[in-house]
Amino acid sequence: TETLSSRDPALFAAIRGELGRQRDEIELIASENIVSAAVMEAQGSVMTNKYAEGYSGKRYYGGCQFVDVAEDLAISRACELFGCSFANVQPNSGSQANQGVFNALLKPGDTILGMNLASGGHLTHGAAPNQSGKWFNAVQYGVRQQDCRIDYDEVARLAKEHNPKLIIAGGSAIPRQIDFAKFREIADSVGAYLMVDMAHFAGLVAGGAHPSPFPFADVATTTTHKTLRGPRGGMILTNNEEIAKKVNSAIFPGIQGGPLMHVIAAKAVAFGEALRPEFKVYAQQVISNAQALADELMKGGLDIVTGGTDTHVMLVDLRPKGVKGNATDKALGRAHITCNKNGIPFDPEKPTVTSGIRLGTPAGTTRGFKEEEFRQIARMIIKVVDGLAANGEEGNDAVEAEVRAEVSALCAKFPLYPAL
Ligand code: PLP
Repeated sequence: TETLSSRDPALFAAIRGELGRQRDEIELIASENIVSAAVMEAQGSVMTNKYAEGYSGKRYYGGCQFVDVAEDLAISRACELFGCSFANVQPNSGSQANQGVFNALLKPGDTILGMNLASGGHLTHGAAPNQSGKWFNAVQYGVRQQDCRIDYDEVARLAKEHNPKLIIAGGSAIPRQIDFAKFREIADSVGAYLMVDMAHFAGLVAGGAHPSPFPFADVATTTTHKTLRGPRGGMILTNNEEIAKKVNSAIFPGIQGGPLMHVIAAKAVAFGEALRPEFKVYAQQVISNAQALADELMKGGLDIVTGGTDTHVMLVDLRPKGVKGNATDKALGRAHITCNKNGIPFDPEKPTVTSGIRLGTPAGTTRGFKEEEFRQIARMIIKVVDGLAANGEEGNDAVEAEVRAEVSALCAKFPLYPAL
C-alpha cells in the first residue's frame, strides 16, 4: 500500500520532474512521442511480474494464459495495421529487432549493405562501433552531394560490387520517402534480402500517410515508440513464412530471454489506438506540421536539407546563420525547446559539434499543435538562433528568457496528462 512518493522520494521527485519538463517544454526530438494514459497503464501493470519465455501457446512457463492474450492481441493488431501476415512483438528495442533479423538471416562475416551514419543511417545498419559493423562485412551507401537524396545508382553499384546478403533501407534522419520498389529491384539484381527499418516513419505507414514497405521488403523492423506512439520497444514484420520461423527462433532463444510482457501489453494498446480513424488524422497532421515548421524556418533564413520534408522529420542546416549544432541545441534547451544536434550530410564539423539540428513533429502533434503553433515554434527557434549568432556560444539571455515565456504560454494552452 506504500506509494512511490513515500517509499522512494528521490525517484518520485525525478519522475515528477520529468512530467513537469514534458508539460512545460516543447518536444521536437524526432524519435519521441507522448503515449496515451492507457498505454502507460498497461505498461505499469502486473504483467511486469510474468515470465513467459517462448511464444503464445508454446511457453516454457505455466500461468501464461493472460499474457498470451496480450501477445496475441499485439500480433493480430500489428498485422492488421501493416498489412502483413506475421509479427514478432518481443524485441525489447529497435536495435534488438535489427539484431534479431541479422541473427535469423546472416552469419558473422556475411556482407550487409546499409546507409552510413553521416547520411542519416542508424548505428545498427553497419556502423563501425556497432556490433553490426564489427561482426559483418558492412558496406555503406550514402546520399548524393548535389541534393542529399539517396543515391540509388551508388546503392546498385555497391550491391553489384559486394554482393550483400542483406540490404537495409531506412534510417534515423531521412526526411524524404524512400523508393522501396527501387530497393527491391536492386536486392533482386544480386539475390539479397531486403530489410526496411521503418522505425522512424512506422506511425505514418500505420496511419496511411506514407507508403508501406510491403510488398517490397522481405522483412521490416521498427521501434514502437516513435511516430507509432507506443511504449519503448521493437517489432519485426514479414509476409514470408520461412523468414518468420527463423525470426522467432532468432529472437527467442537466439538473443533474448523472457519477453517484457507488460511492454507487449502496452504495444497491443498502442496498436489498437493506431487502428482507430483518429490515428489517420494524426499521421497526416504530423506531416503537415513538419512541412509548416520547415517552411517557416526557411522563411527565417535557415536551410532545410533537401529543401523540405515528406515525413515527420527534418534536418536544419544552420550554416546560413553561422552557428553550430551543439551550441544551438543548448541554447534552444535553455529556452525550453528540446531537440538534438545532428550532423548534416557532408558535414564539415565533428559529430560532437555538427552544423545541424534534427527536428520532428510527432510529440507536438500528439499534444495538439497544428500548423499555426508549429509556425510560431519556428519563429521562436529563429529568435534563439539569431540571439546565438549575435552573441556567440553563451547566447542571448534576454531573448532566451522571452522565448521561454512564450513556450510556457503555448504549453499551458495544451495541457499534458491532466490526470497525473
Ligand atoms: N532503427 C532506426 C532507424 C532508429 O532510428 C532507431 C532509434 O534511434 C533504432 C533502429 C534503434 O531503436 P532503439 O533505440 O529502440 O534501440
